[in-house]
Amino acid sequence: MLEIKNLRASLEEEGKEILKGLNLTVEAGKVHAIMGPNGSGKSTLSYVLSGRDGYEVTEGAAELDGQDILEMEPEERAAAGLFLAFQYPVEIPGVGNMTFLRTAVNAQRKARGEAEMDAATFLKVVREKAKELKIDAEMLKRPVNMGFSGGEKKRNEILQMAMLEPKLCILDETDSGLDVDAMKLVADGVNAMRSPDRAFLVITHYQRLLDHIVPDVVHILANGRIIKTGGPELALEVEKNGYADLIEEAA
Ligand code: ADP
Ligand code: MG
Ligand code: MG
Repeated sequence: MLEIKNLRASLEEEGKEILKGLNLTVEAGKVHAIMGPNGSGKSTLSYVLSGRDGYEVTEGAAELDGQDILEMEPEERAAAGLFLAFQYPVEIPGVGNMTFLRTAVNAQRKARGEAEMDAATFLKVVREKAKELKIDAEMLKRPVNMGFSGGEKKRNEILQMAMLEPKLCILDETDSGLDVDAMKLVADGVNAMRSPDRAFLVITHYQRLLDHIVPDVVHILANGRIIKTGGPELALEVEKNGYADLIEEAA
């Protein structure tokens, strides 16, 4: 589903290299977790894959379901099936949450050559999915993320993901700022979406999220590279011993 080869990327302004030859393969149907120290390049990886401005890819390749995504515009990547739940969800004044979701869903369907979702169906689906995430109707009417608590913003990201039905879901520290109950809601939302033709890249600082979203594979990202890959036990090892030994070992 996702194949990244020798990816190198720098900050456009400073020219500082952040991703330094990163290799990663995520198969369809799998959940891969990425853990790593602060500043190791986890968010940068998610931004470079989704096409955020300000980064320059200097080497390497990234394919989503066989398509080279690095040359695409962000909206083309989304249409190709990529979704990113932000570490820091953005507030969008003046744009109603419901309008935002409906516009995104229909743009997605159009790009896939499908008919628009009619208003009644959309309303039914969005209400159903919002209810599962304990997002109340009033939050759907407010502008996107405006005045939402940290936890509400993160749940709203998962609502967007559930509505867009992506092929590859990237969650960047979606658990940060969530209390245990909210984290379980988010995990349930993600688990409900697990399917043989969808893959997840779950970026997290804390092992605890991985008790709820049990990954197939765990990668350690340090200094712009994947330095170790293992099973769920690798996350437990990191939780217990930290990253220092792994980084030393890799060096
Ligand atoms: P992580 O998500 O693993 O904590 P990031 O990808 O956010 O790491 O950051 C990787 C490195 O790149 C850090 O040293 C960070 O300070 C730097 N960095 C990222 N984006 C910017 C930016 N826009 N301007 C300056 N430095 C940046
Ligand atoms: Mg960070
Ligand atoms: Mg980050």
